[in-house]
Amino acid sequence: MTDDQIPRADVLLRGGPIRTMGETAPEARALAAVDGTIVAVDDEAEALRDEHTHVIELDGRAAIPGINDAHLHAAWLGARWPRLFFGEGADSQHDGPLARTEDDRRRALLKAWNLLAELGITSYTEPGIGPGEDDGETGCFGSDMLETYLQLHREREQKSRVTLLRLFGTLDGTSDLEDVLAGIHSPVPATDERWLQIPGVKIFGDGIPPMRTAWLRTPYVDGSSGAPLPQGPSGPAEALCAMIRAAHARGLQVAVHATGDRTIDALTTAIERAGGAPENRPHCAVHADLALGDLPARMRDAGIAAAIQPVIARETRTWAATTLGAGRAKDAWPLARLLEAGTVTTITSDAPITTPDWRIALDAGAEMIGDEIPDARSRLLDCVTRAPAIQDGAADWKGSLEVGKVLDVCVLDDDPVASRKAFTDLTVEMTITDGRVVFDRATRRSVPASRT
Ligand SMILES: [Zn+2]
Repeated sequence: MTDDQIPRADVLLRGGPIRTMGETAPEARALAAVDGTIVAVDDEAEALRDEHTHVIELDGRAAIPGINDAHLHAAWLGARWPRLFFGEGADSQHDGPLARTEDDRRRALLKAWNLLAELGITSYTEPGIGPGEDDGETGCFGSDMLETYLQLHREREQKSRVTLLRLFGTLDGTSDLEDVLAGIHSPVPATDERWLQIPGVKIFGDGIPPMRTAWLRTPYVDGSSGAPLPQGPSGPAEALCAMIRAAHARGLQVAVHATGDRTIDALTTAIERAGGAPENRPHCAVHADLALGDLPARMRDAGIAAAIQPVIARETRTWAATTLGAGRAKDAWPLARLLEAGTVTTITSDAPITTPDWRIALDAGAEMIGDEIPDARSRLLDCVTRAPAIQDGAADWKGSLEVGKVLDVCVLDDDPVASRKAFTDLTVEMTITDGRVVFDRATRRSVPASRT
């Protein structure tokens, strides 16, 4: 390459182990980026440095791809913070209105983005914002919040890349087939998809096992089996399937809140019959508590990702045993089975249900898989980097640190693969999004957002 083909590096990241999460070269020593995109690795990267290059010295600290939380309610998290439903700071008090005005909504998102930057999170999926929640009590999920997202996106205030799923029913509640079909056919706002993509819909398929509202193939200990939440003229099961079919046929990503095996089965069957998800855009079973038996392999083959929350599993497994029976509760949240099957599997927080701190979720995930999975630490990191990029339909430009992908990085004080420390004992030192430092612990500041 000649000088005019490869410009000098804007950013050079060097001086420590870089876990690329790439398939061909899992480790690197240096990365050079131009306009936020990695253009060279190792010696070639060093060679692109000149006096204008912003050199980020790792000083022995480790770099991994920026964390991507595939299921995180950022607007609600920002409005509610520091109150969470489980774990430290737990407060499951009724919310009431949290975001009434445009100012409240802006504050909530900006607060969430700062918080996520401090945790090394550079991407997330906001799972469910739209007209279905226009009368919702918190004000965090309605069309107004979508407008605020769009406004801040236009103002280039984001520090994290967002995948936003539209919601045409109520959160954790019912939805009407006619409303959802109309929503599916309504236009999607134009955005810069690398920062705010709106690829699909969230459908609440069922509830949760401890409340006996997850829809099951084999009944609960009390003999009931739960039921789907969608409503339509031919009954809930047909309404759920009709929503999935319509969204898929429209080319939208379908994310179904599916905890019960019967709901996951319904989603999988509908997608199987439709010929599978598009190659580069899997659909998603959110929670997938009871993705047991034949389901992990069928999900893999149909192109359905599983978004698992290990902290919810840890906090509710004993409770779930009272309704599911001890045996099934023990098998629930089958993280190891999903990883073994090769299903696209993400580890997510569902914040503010649990903490957005992915390190706590990975430690809970490590407990769940024990020594069943080889290379467990890398596999767990994959669930918060590469796998969610696949779920985002963005694996060709984010999720690993390779030439042609964006320089989204989480810098840790120690190597998360080689070190035997709990993930929770690692410190997030710095966060880089699109080649720009958005958080630096050394200066104890969240760097102002506005992108150029
Ligand atoms: Zn959720």
